[in-house]
Order: sequence, then C-alpha cells, then structure tokens
Amino acid sequence: MSYAVDGRNVIVTGGSKGIGYGIAEVFAEAGAHVTIVARNSDVASQAAARLVDRGSSVDFVIADISKPSECARMADEVTAARGGIDVLCANAGIFPEKMLADMTEEAYDETFDLNMKGCLFSVQACLPALADSGHGRVVVTSSITGPMTGVAGWTHYGASKAAQLGFVRAAAMELAPQGVTINAILPGTIYSDGLLKLAINLDEIAAAIPLKRIGDPRDIGYAALYFASDEAGYITGQTLVVDGGVTLIE
Ligand code: NAP
Repeated sequence: MSYAVDGRNVIVTGGSKGIGYGIAEVFAEAGAHVTIVARNSDVASQAAARLVDRGSSVDFVIADISKPSECARMADEVTAARGGIDVLCANAGIFPEKMLADMTEEAYDETFDLNMKGCLFSVQACLPALADSGHGRVVVTSSITGPMTGVAGWTHYGASKAAQLGFVRAAAMELAPQGVTINAILPGTIYSDGLLKLAINLDEIAAAIPLKRIGDPRDIGYAALYFASDEAGYITGQTLVVDGGVTLIE
C-alpha cells in the first residue's frame, strides 16, 4: 500500500504552524501540491519556503477562515492557481482558556467562529472543486477535548470540537453522493505553537501518556494522509484518535 497523494492539490488551513505545518510537511513529502492557509503572511511564507527549499510543491494563501467570504476566496484562489482541489485539511483552530464563570459572548463567538463556523464554511467553499476531482477528501482536526474528555477552562473549546463531529457525520451523508469523504482526527496533546503558549507542565503531561511522549505534529499528518488516500475511499463520517493512548486511562 502506498497511500499515494502525489500530484493531488491539498489545502491545509492553519498550515503555517503546529499541527497544520506537520500535516503540510507530510503531504508535501508525499508529493502533493500543498497550499498553506493562515492570516500572518510572514509566518505562512516562511513555512512554505522551508518546504519548497526541501524540494516540495508548496505555496500559501492568506485568509481568515473564521469569515465565510474569506473561505470562498481561499477556495477560488487555490482552484485558479492549482486547477482544482483534491483534499481539504480543515485544521485551523484556537483554544484560548476561559473559565465558565468568566465566559463572555465575545470569547464564545471567537472560538466558535473559527473552530466550527470556519470548518463548515471552508468545506462548503471547497465542495464544488472536491466533487469535480472525483476523489474529494476532507480531513477535520477535532480534538479528544470535548468529544471524549473535559478540561476546565475549555467549555467553549470542547463544545466547538464536539460540534465539529456532529457536522462531520451529517456532512458525510451530504457529500457521499458526490464521492467526497469527510473524517475527523481527534488529537491528544501535540507539540505546537498554540500548546507552548499554555501554562502547563509538558513533562508531567508526557509522563501521564501511555506512550510517554507528547505527540509530534507529523503524527497527525500521517493520520490525515491515510484519510486522504485512495485506500481510505470507503471510510466516511468516522473519527481517529491520535493521543498516545491517553484516553484509555480509567
Ligand atoms: P497553533 O500552533 O496555534 O496553530 C494554529 C494555526 O492556525 C496557525 O497556522 C494560525 O496561523 C492558524 N489560524 C489561527 N486563526 C486563524 C484564522 N482565523 N484563519 C486562518 N488561520 C488561522 O495550533 P495547533 O495546536 O497546531 O492546533 C491546530 C488544530 O489542532 C486546532 O484545530 C486545534 O483545536 C487542534 N488540536 C490541537 C491540539 C494540540 O495539543 N496542539 C490538540 C487537539 C486538537 P495565523 O495565526 O497566522 O492565522
């Protein structure tokens, strides 16, 4: 089995850093044409340049995925530049901490606008091109937090990540007649810029994980690569936990 994606046009939202960069890296090494999408053009251009320097086909589009109009522009630009879209990795997300007692409508909206609304509208925007490809694939980066576990300070985040799974299952039914699959990855704790901003002890977290390490962004990339492959073409509406075994603990 090869999980061949060479020559496929792949969008990775939030691909300039962290998990998204790990996904972009794995697809680029597998020979895909990757478009990184993020807001900060310096960071996105540097991320793309690092992969291009290693011989990969990678460019970037600047867009705020929390805005439906920006999702539409992203899809239009990639379709115009690359001639189509085969795979969308809907990965961009934020996880700002806020205790429930302090929750505000603004904090809730900020998290849901990107994590849930951005996920839905980026899939909607790419759908015509994904359907045209004849083998369209959507891979959503959800989380174990919300769908499987609860963490204080992340009521809004956990709700947004659980909401993504409801979206994935209903979307799977709508996309199936067009030959497009949609699946979700549920990462545990993975090294990323966003993770390193949290006030947490990574050594303690690693010690509590059965596989005794924090995940690497590429661990999520390999799972995304599988869902995007022809070999995974009969799998849709499903989830894959990539967490070093942490959710197995009683
Ligand atoms: P990260 O290191 O903070 O990277 C976030 C990426 O998203 C950056 O490329 C960022 O670039 C982009 N982004 C943020 N807001 C955006 C917006 N409005 N429009 C477009 N792009 C935007 O985060 P991460 O830890 O890799 O997390 C990535 C995904 O994995 C998220 O969905 C998160 O919920 C999920 N996840 C992470 C972990 C973990 O342990 N790291 C665990 C479970 C799930 P710009 O700021 O330039 O826009």
